[in-house]
Amino acid sequence: MSRHHKVSDLGTLEPEMKGKIRQRIFCDQHPEDEIRLVCKNCKALICVLCKTIMHENHASETVSDAAAEVKKNIQIKMNRCSDKVRRITDSEREADALDKKINDAEMKEIKALEDQRLQLIKVIDQEVAKMKDKLQNVYKDLRQQNAALKRRMKEEQEKCSTATDNARQIIDQGTDIDIIKKGSDLEQLLLQQ
Ligand SMILES: [Zn+2]
Ligand SMILES: [Zn+2]
Repeated sequence: MSRHHKVSDLGTLEPEMKGKIRQRIFCDQHPEDEIRLVCKNCKALICVLCKTIMHENHASETVSDAAAEVKKNIQIKMNRCSDKVRRITDSEREADALDKKINDAEMKEIKALEDQRLQLIKVIDQEVAKMKDKLQNVYKDLRQQNAALKRRMKEEQEKCSTATDNARQIIDQGTDIDIIKKGSDLEQLLLQQ
């Protein structure tokens, strides 16, 4: 038991001494005397004799008062720790709720973008349809103009052929009188071609 009897420094109390403080522990200097006091100045566990000899003018308190004080301080710190755990738990719940809000907001924004995309496609499709319409009208006009040109060319060709056929018939089969009578008209007709 002697190794427990030395005057201990409070700062170096080891965990294994918990609960043993209430046992009767004797002073190293004065083996007959039980440790009953704590010298506040020296932060040392002492006996009554130590107090009168070496710590006379030092502030001291009983071991049970000192232990009660330590317990009180530890309890305060434990309570603070419990409060902190509760606060963190609350914060974690809030962070989880925030997760849901973040996801919902993201989905909403993405859906809005998708709606915008569809709206833009609709507008573009309408514009392209209008432009196609205009183009088709332009080419329809060109086709009609070209058809009219071809019709006129055909008519000219037919007129020219008819005039040539008439002229050849008169020249080949007509009498000199016929040729003289119709000649200037035919020349006129051929000239127009
Ligand atoms: Zn002593
Ligand atoms: Zn002292």
